[in-house]
Amino acid sequence: MHILLLGSGGREHALAWKIAASPLVTKLWCAPGNAGIAREAECVALDIADHAAVIDFCKRNAVELVVVGPETPLAAGIVDDLAQAGIRAFGPSKQAARLEGSKGFTKALCTEFGIPTGAYGRFTNAADALAYVRAKGAPIVVKADGLAAGKGVVVAKTLKEAEDAIAMMFDGAFGAAGAEVVIEEFLEGREISFFALSDGETAIALASAQDHKRVFDHDQGPNTGGMGAYSPTPFVTDEIHAEIMAKIILPTVDGMKTRGTPFRGVLYAGVMLTAEGPKLFEYNVRFGDPECQVLMLRMMSDIVPAMLASCDGQLKNFDLRWFPESALTVVMAAKGYPSEYAKGSVIQGFDEAAKVEGVEIFHAGTVAKNGAILANGGRVLNVCALGTTVTEAQARAYEAVDRIQWPEGFCRRDIGWQAVEREKAGKRLTL
Ligand code: AMP
Repeated sequence: MHILLLGSGGREHALAWKIAASPLVTKLWCAPGNAGIAREAECVALDIADHAAVIDFCKRNAVELVVVGPETPLAAGIVDDLAQAGIRAFGPSKQAARLEGSKGFTKALCTEFGIPTGAYGRFTNAADALAYVRAKGAPIVVKADGLAAGKGVVVAKTLKEAEDAIAMMFDGAFGAAGAEVVIEEFLEGREISFFALSDGETAIALASAQDHKRVFDHDQGPNTGGMGAYSPTPFVTDEIHAEIMAKIILPTVDGMKTRGTPFRGVLYAGVMLTAEGPKLFEYNVRFGDPECQVLMLRMMSDIVPAMLASCDGQLKNFDLRWFPESALTVVMAAKGYPSEYAKGSVIQGFDEAAKVEGVEIFHAGTVAKNGAILANGGRVLNVCALGTTVTEAQARAYEAVDRIQWPEGFCRRDIGWQAVEREKAGKRLTL
């Protein structure tokens, strides 16, 4: 089978690594890819925003499956355009991708199909939004409706912060993404991520995975795209797992089908475990990055048949198997990230780091130049490891991190701490 993967981050390197391991695959390309992905796939300099160019490449190279990593091409309808050209693509259609592309869309779906979520209002002008927050009071959450690169959410602790956020969004801080604003009840509880694979008819849960969003140890500093992740996680018990499937994931799949816009691909739910039970606060319509990295390490099944089953509505009798080991990934980022950072510094020590047992290094933002690997982004490397426990995976990942020579980079030193703490107390993590 000829497969084309779209994207260039750590998520895509992990997907490329897993897809390349499939005996079904005879040729794998990645557009545009990065220096690490080049080990698993042939990287091609295609502009993935140019759907006609992607289709043309697929036709010339007899590509039978396109796997879409990031959300932007999904929201732009690349799966629809490929389907129209007769090319199968893994991921949701443009209409189904609205689950991530419009917060208001998702809230309305929750209301229509009785999916538990916080109380909310949708606004297209500042005056009504201000009146709403003044009536509700703080804390309250103000969200730009559209895709805003993870920056469109303000958790306002005071009324003043909420008012400022509303003013900022209607002043065009996020462009068209902020033309509508969703204001949501502040949900108190533990925040977890939940991943499921859907074929439009049904869904199966993936292993549990949790990321760390803040840039510094002890969850300090600004939010990032994710500084590390681990799997399994301590917070999703069997009962909570079953409740999230029954009350959130499956009703979403049913609702999207009922509306005539079935959801196929990976559903990534942001869920708050509140005193009243799990409540959805957002959907993403693709793998999380860096959660994908740990999920790929733990996935025992061949991923290609799972993706084909998702495309073809054949998940009903499908079973995904997982290794019982734990996985953990540490993100190494360029100093200054998530603000200003420099590109082009040299990274060394890959071979020594890769020698640590259970370690796999996925590249997130690198480029190869004259035989050297250079940093080429904010998040640059994912140093991942498997272990019998999260504690062991953590120790192995940091041993490998310490063998990487990159003075211009940094990482958190406490990835997985909640799991490690529970393992110290004798808890065994399973899901
Ligand atoms: P999002 O971009 O939707 O993932 O939101 C960013 C972060 O804001 C989430 O990871 C949560 O920590 C927080 N958040 C979003 N919605 C709510 C809510 N209704 N209540 C409390 N926190 C929220």
